[in-house]
Amino acid sequence: MKKLLMTLLLTFCIGCTYTLLNEKDTTVSAKSTKKTIMIDAGHGGYDVGAVSNYGDYEKDINLDIALLVGKQLKSYSYNVVYTRTNDSVSWSEDNVEDLQTRCDLAKKRNADLFVSIHLNSSEYEANGYEIYCDFNNKNVVKLSNSILKQLDQLDYSTNRGLLDTNETPLYVVANNEVDAILIEAGFISDDSDLYYLKNYTNNVATAIAKGIKKSLN
Ligand SMILES: [Zn+2]
Repeated sequence: MKKLLMTLLLTFCIGCTYTLLNEKDTTVSAKSTKKTIMIDAGHGGYDVGAVSNYGDYEKDINLDIALLVGKQLKSYSYNVVYTRTNDSVSWSEDNVEDLQTRCDLAKKRNADLFVSIHLNSSEYEANGYEIYCDFNNKNVVKLSNSILKQLDQLDYSTNRGLLDTNETPLYVVANNEVDAILIEAGFISDDSDLYYLKNYTNNVATAIAKGIKKSLN
């Protein structure tokens, strides 16, 4: 009986080692050929983000867009990782720790690029999409312009252009060791933007993914 147990244990251990080695092999070969893109759905869990006139939470629309961007990027054969894939978040209810965890995840998962997805809000009349990035980093400026160009083709709102994070520092861009951008895909406070973001989510997501692909190619 003891011998049988030992044999079973040994077989199990060999199996584990084999699986581990295999996983390692796949990661190495995949990394050398494909870029890894981390998609960050803004807010989540305790933090709902901005709220529409009808009670829609920004965190939910961000997540819908983020998952579709990831799906599209996977279809282009990129490695896609997420900061969150549902409404339960692993980090604490402290805003700085929340944002720092997202930056840490980008490094931990060996991301080449970090794309954060948000929606704007204003008590005044405002609409449109815009992208925050570091103007001193040519890669992210090229990437952001490429995404704006794709969003323009959807003709759903105003192009508000690029914003420099050296002038308006945003935590997940400024504190990220990975090339990072933050997309404000529209105003949740604007009825027309909100309608498009909720009903044509896939168009917005596909445009973002296409912009990324064209810039990385
Ligand atoms: Zn936001």
